[in-house]
Amino acid sequence: MSMQNDYQKLINKLEQEQDLSDAEFATLLACHDEDGLEYLRQRARAVREKHFGQDVYIRGLIEFTNYCRNNCYYCGIRRENDHAQRYRLTTEEILNCCETGWQLGFRTFVLQGGEDAYFTDERLVDLIRAIKKRFPECAVTLSIGEREKDSYEQLFAAGAERFLLRHETADKAHYESLHPAEMSYTHRMKCLQALREIGYQVGCGMMVGSPGQASAQLLQDLRFLQKFQPEMVGIGPFIPQHDTPLADQPAGTAAMTVKLLAIIRLLLPQVLLPATTALGTIDPQGREKGLRAGANVLMPNLSPTTVRRKYALYDNKICMGEEAAECVNCLARRVASTGYQIVTNRGDHPTFAKRSQ
Ligand code: SAH
Repeated sequence: MSMQNDYQKLINKLEQEQDLSDAEFATLLACHDEDGLEYLRQRARAVREKHFGQDVYIRGLIEFTNYCRNNCYYCGIRRENDHAQRYRLTTEEILNCCETGWQLGFRTFVLQGGEDAYFTDERLVDLIRAIKKRFPECAVTLSIGEREKDSYEQLFAAGAERFLLRHETADKAHYESLHPAEMSYTHRMKCLQALREIGYQVGCGMMVGSPGQASAQLLQDLRFLQKFQPEMVGIGPFIPQHDTPLADQPAGTAAMTVKLLAIIRLLLPQVLLPATTALGTIDPQGREKGLRAGANVLMPNLSPTTVRRKYALYDNKICMGEEAAECVNCLARRVASTGYQIVTNRGDHPTFAKRSQ
């Protein structure tokens, strides 16, 4: 039997059973056969089209603070990076971003930031309420790191309905190699569990090609995704940032990221799966490749252009100068080239969409 047929069999099994043995996952993760990979992307597209048609959901990303108490070895806004120029947006600036986004057709706003002590529960509750009051039809997603369960509850009660907290890696020893001792894998996992229990649509995810990541780590990530069944999975290549301890490490690749997007689509057929900015940074066609491999979400930047450069998690990040409107036009063209189309709606996960009607 030819190699091609062996890969096709594995891919069919993954599509039908949403599962493979460890050895089979390892084979797929190591696949470099172009026909095999094309078949994988094709099946991922078919599953994506079955659940979402041609629709691409967009989320307006608002990077509202780059102050951070954490010191993650990979991240450009880590506490010890003295070269980072710190900023935080005011409520008015954030509402202006939302207003611009609303006009452009965004119905989800993602508030992302470092773990900034200025944003107490009280301040965040006020902010979320202000956004929901002005844009009641919009969903609010938070991506603000680890907090107490009680805090997550207050933010949910204020109207935030989704939360992105990448697990970064599901291998504890690997997690510890990417973070200082004051951060813990167990606490990150506890936070994800708390978010789930509260009722958020939860997103997790990992960097692809982070230092120390091999097939064994990716296998653990896939097993974790299978067990946790997140509503969203955010993955992107690791890209070194010049002022971090991992500055000299090699970046992850677009090829591996795209392969993982397709595998994740087959593993979690209804999941919300962004083609991320990091993927568009490592490869100018990265986001289009992601959309052609099962991704169904884009998260363009709505942050004011005056602060964009300061939210430098990694080097050479794209879309630094463009106003939001230009970004959307550029993205619409890119999406059209894939045969898909951007839609104006909240883009909830299918099981949550029914509840919010
Ligand atoms: N403080 C929030 C938001 C983090 S920024 C939180 O902890 O969730 C969002 C994501 O960017 C991170 O979860 C990480 O996966 C990714 N990221 C950070 N540095 C990166 C780098 N150098 N290359 C690629 N992705 C990176």
